[in-house]
Amino acid sequence: MTESSEEPGCDSLVPQTTRVPLPPGLRSRVALGLTAAAARGRFELQVCRECGAVQYPPREACHRCLSVLLDWKLQDGGGELISETMLYHSHAEFFREHLPLRLGMVRLDSGPTAIVYLHRKVPPAPARVKVDTRLDKGGHAVLVAVPGDTTKMADTDMADNGLLQW
Ligand SMILES: [Zn+2]
Repeated sequence: MTESSEEPGCDSLVPQTTRVPLPPGLRSRVALGLTAAAARGRFELQVCRECGAVQYPPREACHRCLSVLLDWKLQDGGGELISETMLYHSHAEFFREHLPLRLGMVRLDSGPTAIVYLHRKVPPAPARVKVDTRLDKGGHAVLVAVPGDTTKMADTDMADNGLLQW
C-alpha cells in the first residue's frame, strides 16, 4: 500500500470555482491595433505610407521597404482560400473544447496571406472568401473567413460554436 502525501478530503475545504479556459492571448504591442479595430467592428490592417504595401501580421516596419510609417486602414477582406486543414488535436485547453477546428490559408486581394478560422459553409479550396475580424473569448482579434458571396457577417452562424464573441 502506498501512502499519499496529501491529507484526504483537503480539497473539500477549499471553495471550488469553475475555471473557464480562454484562448491563448499573447500578442505583440503593435498587434493590439488589430484588436482595437475589431472591437469597433472593423477589419483594419496596416498600410505603408511610403510604398502602399499592406501588412499582415501587424509589424513595426514595412515588409517591403522597411518604412515605419504604417497606418491602420479599413480592408474589404476579399480573398482566395488556397488551402485548408482540420485541426483534431491541441495542447491548449481552450481549443480542445472546440475540436475539430477548420483552419485555412487565405491570400487576401490586398496582398498578405493569413491563417484564418473557416466557417463551415466555406467550400473547399480554391474558393472565394470574405475575411473579417472578430474577438475571441479572450478579447483578442482573430481572423475568420466566410463564403465570398456572403453579404453580411450576421448571415452566418459562427456564434453557435462558442469559439468567438459574436
Ligand atoms: Zn513600404
